[in-house]
Amino acid sequence: MSNYKFYEQVNKAFDRAAKYTRFEKGLLDQIKACNAVLRIAFPLERDDGRIEVIHGWRVQHSHHKLPTKGGIRYSLSVNEDETMALASLMTYKCAVVDVPFGGAKGGVKINKSDYSDAELERITRRYTFELYKKNFIGPAMDVPATDYGTSAREMGWILDTYRQFSSELDADGCVTGKPISQGGIRGRTEATGRGVFLGLEEAVSKKESMKSLGLETGIEGKTFVVQGLGNVGYHAANNLVNAGALMVGVAEMDGSIYSKKGIDLDKLMEYRKETGGIIGFPDTITLKSNTDVLEAQCDILVPAALENQITEKNANKIKAKIIAEAANGPTTTEAHDIIKKRGALIIPDSYLNAGGVTVSYFEWLKNIQHVRFGRMGKRFEEDSFKKILRVIETVSDRKFTEKEFSVLAKGAGEAELVDSGLKDTMINSYNEINELRYKNNVDLRTATLINAINKLGDIYEQMGIFP
Ligand code: NAD
Repeated sequence: MSNYKFYEQVNKAFDRAAKYTRFEKGLLDQIKACNAVLRIAFPLERDDGRIEVIHGWRVQHSHHKLPTKGGIRYSLSVNEDETMALASLMTYKCAVVDVPFGGAKGGVKINKSDYSDAELERITRRYTFELYKKNFIGPAMDVPATDYGTSAREMGWILDTYRQFSSELDADGCVTGKPISQGGIRGRTEATGRGVFLGLEEAVSKKESMKSLGLETGIEGKTFVVQGLGNVGYHAANNLVNAGALMVGVAEMDGSIYSKKGIDLDKLMEYRKETGGIIGFPDTITLKSNTDVLEAQCDILVPAALENQITEKNANKIKAKIIAEAANGPTTTEAHDIIKKRGALIIPDSYLNAGGVTVSYFEWLKNIQHVRFGRMGKRFEEDSFKKILRVIETVSDRKFTEKEFSVLAKGAGEAELVDSGLKDTMINSYNEINELRYKNNVDLRTATLINAINKLGDIYEQMGIFP
């Protein structure tokens, strides 16, 4: 585990894809390089008065477009290598889904559960101040968001801290994933998991691809296992269940559980809230470790926890036909090759979990426009639909009920527009990378990175290099 180099893994995948592009080595090196790396250490006063040093990072991988964008992670596994890797993935992700940002990532090396809420607030506010001092945050410079271990609450603290120093008009756009009351957008919390589902839905709609896996098209009836029932894992699982898939296995911090008959997601979430874990959930088998369930029989495996989970050690034992990389970097390059040889389909992180940054982009747009999506047009749309329905009533015998009117004449509000934009993005991007996959006869990860490199290379060529 300790000699695992995440940034090297990302660059290995990049180099494989780069061979299929027309760009010279120097330009490719520039695309790969992290443009700015900030390492900070600051004091935290614990609730009992002790002083503790907190270590944090922020990496702006690519300044080819500004602002840069990427989440903030709170975990003991955070280090410079991990933050650089995640920032690089953000650049490629943004390019793949046509989000006009450079990639960035931040992290604080803490185990969240070791700190009180008041301590977490002090850490978050001080970290924000450190970013502000070094020009590593701002609506036009670098815009953090949620990631592993952080949520809307932390994003709200970040905005409030930023506002203490900046009175700029667009300050709300300095961070995304905020609570709605602080300029957040409907659908952001669910966005990454929803995007995972939409990407999967598109992938399983392809007849040829499913035939080669020995699967029917469609989500309905497919079995899946999820690792990590956090923000991304829960919402991905919830969307899959709502579309008729059967959740047969779950891995969490305390271990993993399996049931051939299926596990009720809502009841499991309640059970976890009450007991603090998933082990012992009725009618399930408890497996030895929290990676065992990854090897269970299922159609789709959704790793949604952390990187380096599917490695040379367990890749041979994984039976899923589709690996849906909801987490960043869950599969090592070596494991990827083993699974690919078996003929399974890996839907890569830099495409599949891009729903989060896509909706973050919408939130940022909302913030700099200072108006909620749908505010101007919703009622106009509804009135127009109603007029059409009334015309239909006058030219036919059909009379619509009040309920039908409210459903058929519903105008698009923020939630509907966000979902529509997310859907469009996930569908279009899948088809772009899928086309490149067949054109170059490569796997989907390589195709995704070819797509990103082509877009980034074109931009660098067009803008030239500043002297
Ligand atoms: P989260 O903190 O909300 O949830 C992570 C969950 O994984 C937690 O429930 C945790 O208990 C569980 N977990 C941790 N280690 C585990 C292990 N070894 N086995 C099983 N479960 C384990 O984090 P998240 O925001 O859902 O992020 C998960 C992954 O998705 C990360 O790789 C993150 O970078 C990626 N991601 C997140 C977003 C986002 O919008 N939050 C966007 C893109 C990618």
